[in-house]
Amino acid sequence: MRFLSAAILVVSLAVATASASDPKKSKDDPNQIGNRDVGKCLNMFSIEKEIALGKQLSEEVKRQARLNDDPLVGEYVNRVGQNLARSSDAKVPFTFQVVEDEAPNAFALPGGFVFVNTGLIKIADEEDEFAAALAHEIAHVAARHLTCQATKQQLLTMLALPAGAVLGGWGGVLARQGMGLGMPMAFMQFTRANETEADYLGVQYMYAAGYDPNGAVSMFEKLEMLERQKPGTLSRIFASHPLDSTRIDKTQAEIQRILPSKPEYVVTTSEYHDIRERLITLENRPANNGQGPTLRRATGSGQPGDADDDQRPTLKRKDLVE
Ligand code: ZN
Repeated sequence: MRFLSAAILVVSLAVATASASDPKKSKDDPNQIGNRDVGKCLNMFSIEKEIALGKQLSEEVKRQARLNDDPLVGEYVNRVGQNLARSSDAKVPFTFQVVEDEAPNAFALPGGFVFVNTGLIKIADEEDEFAAALAHEIAHVAARHLTCQATKQQLLTMLALPAGAVLGGWGGVLARQGMGLGMPMAFMQFTRANETEADYLGVQYMYAAGYDPNGAVSMFEKLEMLERQKPGTLSRIFASHPLDSTRIDKTQAEIQRILPSKPEYVVTTSEYHDIRERLITLENRPANNGQGPTLRRATGSGQPGDADDDQRPTLKRKDLVE
């Protein structure tokens, strides 16, 4: 009976989801960002539970990864991230942190915890390319991909269990399967469809925040080139963010189809260039493995404003190499 009632619950939830207002049309309209149901799915996590799960997982990341602790870098990355998050459909507060890691990658945990590697900032020469990566991660959060995915997998597990195993109902199964707050990260993976949707939404968030959406295209092209040059070293990244020419073509087509061109876009800022330079300089300092005092280079060079007092963004269109 338990098995049956679980199955009935799945069907009724699925019907409820399908009968909700069609989000497809509004998903194409950047003017409706914030008022569309992009995170709608069969999801056993409330927003609060999702944030709690993300927080717990982010503590785990902080224990294992080497975070960049430079206040200027942190403030800047957070400011760019918050600006994009405000231009998104996400309903959760965000935090953005920089991980000292050469791999050009970024990742998002459920509930708004975004991490970006120093390696990604190094290959993003311009702010719109950096913004493209953050916007893509914000889109994964806005669409609640990880908890939607986890819910689907959990339901499949539940339906495969013998009837008597579902004692304690919903909560009981979740506890036994380790689906509570201690859910292992390996359980959470994006599908190809998730990636496509995050690309689609991310480009719109960039555009809404004032960036040239073609920054996403040039970022993909750089990653693809790196993948060709050093396929072995990048395999880990492309396992979570598979990249191919289809992805680039789709993004270019989307920009043409749904994003009316603006007279000017932010392509880059001198502040981004300064922060990027600063990161590269800071990376050459002695390693600090969380023990002893933090050694920091004397400031005076590499400070935003030192090299260029003109902090206005570069407003232009990106010229893409076809
Ligand atoms: Zn992704």
